[in-house]
Amino acid sequence: DIAAAIIAGMVISILAGLFLAGRALIPIRNAWERQQRFVADASHELRTPTAVIHAQTELLLRHPTHSIEQESPHIAVVLKESKRMNRLLDDLLTLARSDSNQLQIQTSDIALDALLKELSEQFKLLARTKGVNIVTELNVPLSLWGDEGRIRQLLVILLDNALKYTPSSGRIEVVGRYQGHSVYISVSDNGCGIAEDELPYVFDRFYRGDKVRSRAEGGTGLGLSIAEWIVDVHGGTIRIDSKVNMGTQVELLFPRKRRGQTETSKNESP
Ligand code: ADP
Repeated sequence: DIAAAIIAGMVISILAGLFLAGRALIPIRNAWERQQRFVADASHELRTPTAVIHAQTELLLRHPTHSIEQESPHIAVVLKESKRMNRLLDDLLTLARSDSNQLQIQTSDIALDALLKELSEQFKLLARTKGVNIVTELNVPLSLWGDEGRIRQLLVILLDNALKYTPSSGRIEVVGRYQGHSVYISVSDNGCGIAEDELPYVFDRFYRGDKVRSRAEGGTGLGLSIAEWIVDVHGGTIRIDSKVNMGTQVELLFPRKRRGQTETSKNESP
């Protein structure tokens, strides 16, 4: 009868509604779980340097009459760990702000050739102490529409990784040029490379290929996550090619032309 049909209709609509609402909530639940994992991982990562600083300071206090020279190995460890903590906190802050769209992107016309040259020269000094050679191949002039501070941060992450994971007598190559409607940047090295099964995870927060090696090199496992975010807000793409013991190539492509504000970034200040 009619009443039964109406009730059945209502029940079906309620069930369908619940089903759709449940599905709509999946992304929210995923985001929530991602956030929970982020906080848990961050706390875990901060625990190690904090524990080391704590232990070393206690050792220092145990010998109040010792000279600074005698205690310098302990002081050096405290310094190293506090620097590591600082780096970690900086990276965490960047990612937390990018998650909540609080980061302002201030775009301008960047002289990319000059920026790549400046950073390569800076890294050459560091690389020399390790016996690594850095070569550049740049289109001049080369310009990019973007946030200079963030593009600099991105390039530093890539150069820093190339240097960290390339042993002595290695070679790093930095290329910058126009490619069709895009600006192409590549940072490649002939270092230790990334295993094929690890490659899909390198952009994950806190992911480190080989934990022991990466930790010895002082990484935070957040560099490539930040790099990916910076590329993303500039409307670009990032691609990594790598072979174990052969080397790694990171390729970036950015739109060549000045982009409209809404296209440039959802985080852009009005
Ligand atoms: P990290 O602080 O550990 O360098 P990243 O997010 O920058 O963190 O990189 C994630 C992982 O990707 C690194 O731990 C490393 O295993 C791998 N990786 C990144 N760049 C390179 C590279 N140029 N050569 C070899 N491995 C790399």
